[in-house]
Amino acid sequence: MKNKYSFSIIGGGVIGCSVAYHLSKELGEEVVLLEKDFIASGSSGLSAGILSHQLWNEIDIELVKKSVEWIKKESEEEEGIVLNQDGLLKLVCTEEEIEPLKRNVNMQQSIGCDVRFLEPNDVEDITPEIAIKDVTGAAYCPDDSYVDPYQLCVHFAKAAEERGVRFLQRSEVKGIERKEDGVFQLRTARDTVESETVIICAGPWSKKVTKMLEFELPLKPYRTQAAITTPFMGEVKIPMVHDVSNSLYMKPETGGTILAGDGTESTESDPDNFKEKPGFDFMTSISEKMLRRLPRSENARLVRGWSGLCTATPDRRPLIGFHSGTEGLFLAVGFNALGVMRAPAIGEMVSDLICGRRTQDDIAEFDPNRFEKVEDFEITQGFTL
Ligand SMILES: Cc1cc2nc3c(=O)[nH]c(=O)nc-3n(C[C@H](O)[C@H](O)[C@H](O)COP(=O)(O)OP(=O)(O)OC[C@H]3O[C@@H](n4cnc5c(N)ncnc54)[C@H](O)[C@@H]3O)c2cc1C
Repeated sequence: MKNKYSFSIIGGGVIGCSVAYHLSKELGEEVVLLEKDFIASGSSGLSAGILSHQLWNEIDIELVKKSVEWIKKESEEEEGIVLNQDGLLKLVCTEEEIEPLKRNVNMQQSIGCDVRFLEPNDVEDITPEIAIKDVTGAAYCPDDSYVDPYQLCVHFAKAAEERGVRFLQRSEVKGIERKEDGVFQLRTARDTVESETVIICAGPWSKKVTKMLEFELPLKPYRTQAAITTPFMGEVKIPMVHDVSNSLYMKPETGGTILAGDGTESTESDPDNFKEKPGFDFMTSISEKMLRRLPRSENARLVRGWSGLCTATPDRRPLIGFHSGTEGLFLAVGFNALGVMRAPAIGEMVSDLICGRRTQDDIAEFDPNRFEKVEDFEITQGFTL
């Protein structure tokens, strides 16, 4: 078996698969991806797959726009990927949140997003299903959408594999050494793979991976939970809803069910030892919150819940670029709760940077070397106002 490559990617989540896909356009057989379990087995496969333009900063919105365009084009030209563009309604329920919401809407409009601010009574024009008694303000973007995140990973991986990228699943990288000539050796239980450049896309495990190279990253994986209901919506359609004040999001799923989530924790979790089952408190509170916001859900039962990890950085920005202390080591980590929605654009950006092309994206704020030392920090969610 070939064991020497120019580029190795550690991690087969949505980021690793997107990087593999974009690199494969020019470099196909020069690339290997090592995944400890199987494609999308980490955070990506557990995600809700929401793609929203209603974010708090321009750079991320531009990345979402690019990603949505890419998925739209792929879904028109290729089988196996579907973009559901049903819109997202954002709600706030306090007076203090109205101004930040309006500010965001103005910013989003100024860069061409079809987003509008709504008074509570206008929500009924979007959907009469949502209870608005306590709502103080709302915003709606008809272009917000969702994908099946597993489908997206497989779509990237299949195309990359067809262009020659080697995917080694069930291949956990257990050790990384550098030879005298600078080439990396990645040790798994079965093989040793050599490569000149290593790209770390290991999601919540990234901190553990860089410890093998004896440096720390300012990353904190944190737990977030979701659950799915029995069918109860019938033919009634609603857009996705994000109730910011009550930490609740709802996303319509096939067959008249709803995926409801949040339950985000503010403490660090160990990706190899966290509670994968949802907490009883979460399951109780999410159905109560859903009932208050979507009265029709009184006929619904939660059938399955789960939790997964998002990865926070001190300033809510990811770390993307070559690590200054380790030549040939590239980081693409720390995507918080917004990894799926930016993945197609991030993969292209990483591929441009690695191939020495100028990227058109604004990347200064993602500099992976911007934190001089790793200090403790508070976990702040990404998908908020
Ligand atoms: C419940 C939930 C809902 C979410 N909803 C959304 C949403 O609606 N929209 C959105 O944009 N984002 C959402 N997110 C966030 C999103 O899932 C993440 O930002 C994204 O999946 C990160 O992708 P990744 O490829 O960096 O990490 P991962 O998907 O975790 O991939 C990392 C991979 O690396 C592998 N790995 C780790 N260590 C090693 C090793 N030593 N050797 C080999 N392989 C290794 C892991 O097995 C894993 O497959 C949600 C997350 C959760 C948990």
